[in-house]
Amino acid sequence: MVNATILQPDVVVAHKCLLGEGPVWDAKRQVICWVDILNGEIHEYAPDQKKHQTIYVQQMIGSLAVCKNGNYLVALQNGFAYINRTTGELQMLSDPEAHLPGNRFNDGKCDPAGRFFAGTMALSEAPKAGGLYLLENNASHKKQLEEISISNGMAWSLDHQTFYYIDSPTYEVAAFDYDKSTGSICNKRIIIKVPQEDGCPDGMTIDSEGMLWIAHWNGWQVARWNPGTGEKLYHIPMPVAKITSCTFGGQSLEDLYITSASVDLTDGDLKMQPLAGSLFVVRNCGFKGLPAFEFDI
Ligand code: CA
Repeated sequence: MVNATILQPDVVVAHKCLLGEGPVWDAKRQVICWVDILNGEIHEYAPDQKKHQTIYVQQMIGSLAVCKNGNYLVALQNGFAYINRTTGELQMLSDPEAHLPGNRFNDGKCDPAGRFFAGTMALSEAPKAGGLYLLENNASHKKQLEEISISNGMAWSLDHQTFYYIDSPTYEVAAFDYDKSTGSICNKRIIIKVPQEDGCPDGMTIDSEGMLWIAHWNGWQVARWNPGTGEKLYHIPMPVAKITSCTFGGQSLEDLYITSASVDLTDGDLKMQPLAGSLFVVRNCGFKGLPAFEFDI
């Protein structure tokens, strides 16, 4: 068992996001990719080469996935797009919510079949204004869920039979039966209820033992939860309050990368948590992740 006192989150690179989010480990290139939603930026960092690159997207970016061809699929304020990783060129694909200009895309992730799931939210954070969408590889999309408030963390069980999902203001993690052949989800049940004092559940990933790792917004922690029992197993205290998401990376997927935010912090808050907005890593965290699914194009 890991001794929590020896796990130390380190800052990966001296860059602070307003709203850092959506970390994805690109195993082929051995780089960690993440977004700054509000500044419309994609960040990439190669730990081996200590090289940091930024792509400026010119609109809010909720999440990204790496495509099999190496480029990015992204969920932007105004819909889905491809981004050429070399040139930064953006090609819009579709906008499922063109009729809802007050919404933007938020968290998203590729499913085990190489499709992309991404959800939306109201810029005003008005309740139940968003949805969850599935983007097929032919760029068509379908709505999976409606009346979502702040669509956030997603993960698939190790056997690909279950989809785990967080609509943050519910303080719950839901599970659905997941059909890998179609991407359909059904039979919703609540599997985890997060106490308010732990902070709001945000981004999520799964480890090689099938346990969920949840970033706790305003909770100063990432925590490991058992989706079978609903029990909180373990947590890593963080030096900043707004923990947004996490994923496993590194050569053997044993480094836990954790994003954070500095948005809406007062000067006083920032004095207390000067690292807010940083990307953190807990190297050799004692747990192991799974490779990120790639968009099949
Ligand atoms: Ca989020």
